[in-house]
Order: sequence, then C-alpha cells, then structure tokens
Amino acid sequence: MSLPASVPLHKVKAEALVPFNHRRIGGRWLVSNDLGDHVFLTDAEFTTFVQAETRPGDPLHERLVAGNFLAGTVDVQTQAARWRKKKQYLFYGPTLHAFVLTHRCNHGCQYCHSSIVGMERTDTDMSIETAERAVDLAFQTTSPGVTIEFQGGEPLANWEVLQHVVEYARQKNALAGKALSFSLVTNLSLMDDDKLDYLLDRKVQLCTSLDGPADLHDKIRIYKNGSSHELVVGWMKKINDRYKAMGLDPNLYRVEALPTITRPALGRWRDVVDTYVSVGCRAVFLRKLDPFGFAARSAKTLGYSMDDFVQFYINAVEYILELNKQGTQVMERHAAIMLSKILADEEPNYLDLRTPGGACIGQIGYAPDGSIYSSDEGRFVAAMGDDMFKVGTVMDTYDRLMTNAQTRALVMAGLNDGQPDCVSCVYKPWCGQQVEYNYKTQGSLHGRMRDSVWCKKHKSIFDYLMAKLERADPEEMRIFERWTTHRVLDHFLQERSAL
Ligand code: SF4
Repeated sequence: MSLPASVPLHKVKAEALVPFNHRRIGGRWLVSNDLGDHVFLTDAEFTTFVQAETRPGDPLHERLVAGNFLAGTVDVQTQAARWRKKKQYLFYGPTLHAFVLTHRCNHGCQYCHSSIVGMERTDTDMSIETAERAVDLAFQTTSPGVTIEFQGGEPLANWEVLQHVVEYARQKNALAGKALSFSLVTNLSLMDDDKLDYLLDRKVQLCTSLDGPADLHDKIRIYKNGSSHELVVGWMKKINDRYKAMGLDPNLYRVEALPTITRPALGRWRDVVDTYVSVGCRAVFLRKLDPFGFAARSAKTLGYSMDDFVQFYINAVEYILELNKQGTQVMERHAAIMLSKILADEEPNYLDLRTPGGACIGQIGYAPDGSIYSSDEGRFVAAMGDDMFKVGTVMDTYDRLMTNAQTRALVMAGLNDGQPDCVSCVYKPWCGQQVEYNYKTQGSLHGRMRDSVWCKKHKSIFDYLMAKLERADPEEMRIFERWTTHRVLDHFLQERSAL
C-alpha cells in the first residue's frame, strides 16, 4: 500500500486499522475495506485516520467505527455473518446452467460469439438423450437454485428438445424441490403464438437482443427474411401485453432486451437509450463487444478502444439520469449492479463481478454434443478452436466435474486476492474476474490487470460512479436508491412441487 507523500510514515499505526485500500476521487480519498465498506476522507482526515488519532465522540471517529475501519471496534461476529451472507455462493455449486440447444441460426449477426451454422444443419442440435443427461447433472448441483438458460444458435430452432428439457426438469423438481427457473435467449424470429402460449404457461423468462433503432440494429443483426428490428419490437410488445393480461406488474415483468455496443453505435447513445424507453424497457444493460467468435473477426469494422466505450457509457448514463430527472424511470443495469454492492451491501451474484469468478462454480455451459464448458464464454473460446475451458462431458459425474484439477485451476485463477493489482485496488470488495476473458485477451488465465481492458472497463465505471457518490447530489442519490432496491421476479420460479 503506498500512502500519499503528505503522510509521515513513521506515525502510521497499522495495527490500529483494518486493512484498507484507497484512491483519489474528486477532492477526497476513497477508502474501502474487504467487508465492502467505504468512506470519503479529506487529506487531513486521512492523515488523522492512518495515525489512529481519532477519539470516541469525534464525528470522524464515529464514521470510521460505522465503516469498520478501526480494528479495536469491529464486532467480529456480526461482520463474519455479514461476509458469509454476501459470499453465500461459495457454499454451493453452480446455479446457472446454459444449454446450447443447437448451433443453427437464421440470423447472421456480425458480432455473434457462437459458431453458428445454417438452418439445414440439424446434425448440430442437442439430442433428447444428451439433454436429459445434462438436466440430470444440473440437478446434482448443491445449489438450492437451478436456472436453465436456453442458448444457441437460435434455441427455438430445436423446439422439441427445449420443451422436453422444461418438462423433464419440472418432473425432476417434484422430488428435488429446488428454486427452479428457465430463461430463453432468443432472436424471436421463430416465435409463433403456440410457442408463446407454451412459454408463458411454463413461466419461461424471455430475453432478446435489441441494438438500438432500426437502422443500427438491422445493419448489424442481419436477417435475410426481413427486418430483424421490426420482428423483435413487434414480439416484445405482444409479450409485454400478454404479461399485463396475466395480471403481472408491468413495472417488473417485461421482455428483457440487451444491446451490444458496436462502433456505429458509439455516437448514438441517445438513440440506443430512446429505443429502449420507446419499447417499454425499464432497464438497459450497455454491453461492450466481446473478444470472442465473429466479434473477434469483425473487430476491424465493429471494434473500438476501451476509452471509446467508457466515453459512450458515461454519455449514455448521463442521458439516462437526465431522463430520470424528467420523470422517465429507466436504469442502466451495470451501474445498478455495482451500486447495489456499494450502497445496498447486497451481492447480486452477477458472475462477472464476483470473486472467485463464475467459471464452473457459478455457471456451466452444455454444448449440443454433450461437452461441458466452464461457462458460456468457455464454449465461445471452444468455437474458435481451443478447448481450454472444456471441463468434461455429460457422461462425467458431478463430483468429478467440480473437483477435477482443471476446474480448481480456473476457480483459483478467478480470485481477486490472487491478482497483484487487485489486492491493492480500492474496488476489490465489489469487483471480479473472468478467466476466459483474461485468457482470450492476454493469453493467461490470470491476465495482467495493469494493462487489461477488463480491469480498465470496471475501474473506469467504478471511478465514474464513485465520483457521483462523492458529490452526493440529492436527486441522483434518490435515483440510485431506486436502482438498488431489490425486487424479486418470483413469477418465474417454478412451483416447488411442479406436477
Ligand atoms: S480488476 Fe481492476 S478494478 Fe477490478 S479489483 Fe482488479 S485492479 Fe481493481
């Protein structure tokens, strides 16, 4: 830990302090500890703090006690319980199970991560036998919850197996009694009324891609049978109307849509946000282009620097805040996740921002041929010809999958406490690693955070949000409070006894 030059080192009383990290934000020092507390200190306050010169009754002393920064005043039992609650994902196996039902797709999106093939290639579909074996494995997780996420290709192309997985998993859950839910990531082009009836009846959550206004979306998400944008927006409206007709709160229950930000979108943050607001979305998740699959190959035309993305992100969030101030309730999800950790002391278990990362112990990816990968990203790497993240097959036992040397290496590599730069980073309590990203962009599971674009993205967004918290504009703080109010979408949970 390097302290500011103004602090006389011989006067620092390290034994009186809880280990902390610090960083200059605005005109003050942001100080954080491993419990996830933070405080902003002026130069003088910082010096007083590290010299442990505060006394009970001083406002600064009380702030430091409340933030668990003074060693002698920490209630260890209470803080251990708090830590255990936030890290509860360490006490059980993977919750998210991504089923790649097929590699077939009828879109030709320029940034697609998957190894997609034409619609005639039914040989790339997952079979019923493989799907059943994958469900059997998923139910062996020690996690109290199981989310089966249907992915592709376009998963609706393998409709028979999708339905079979839903029925088979519901059947199994009659005995297992887990918190079971399903989600479907779809381009909606193969949706029809019968399929929608089934999916709504079986409470399958629907998630799609929407990259902004029609010209932007259709330019990137190429669909040779017409306008992908028109189709997506049309189905989103129809599905949202059906949720309303089912009596579900329209503030909570809507089709989830995600944009992928490409170079042509960089100057169009208003258009992207306005599109989401116009189709009734309450949240936008501004995702950077990934370094996997077609995205890697099309980087010359669609790619950009991390500085460009961060500028886009800040412009978009500023615009979102402006809309909120004018009465339109819409949030940016990445910011909401980070703020939930910082302000609400919650752990949303978002796999990209937890330590250890989500590889193997947070999620598993099941490919159509029965191969099992550390995650969705792990199978994207495989689609590029590298089986680094293949940890087994559906013929393995759960025990072997979770305890083999490869899985253990991936988990260990995803620890912030094992990263030279993260250990001294003020954002460590809320940040996380993705070993697949490190490997793809830097050739090593651990990566090097000092020149990592992963780190740059997170550090830049944390810096931006922390500057907001340091200023503490009352109106923005009220908006952030709304963004961090946790609402459970329990409609999508299957009944414990489904049959
Ligand atoms: S990845 Fe970067 S921002 Fe995150 S904890 Fe590590 S050094 Fe800090």
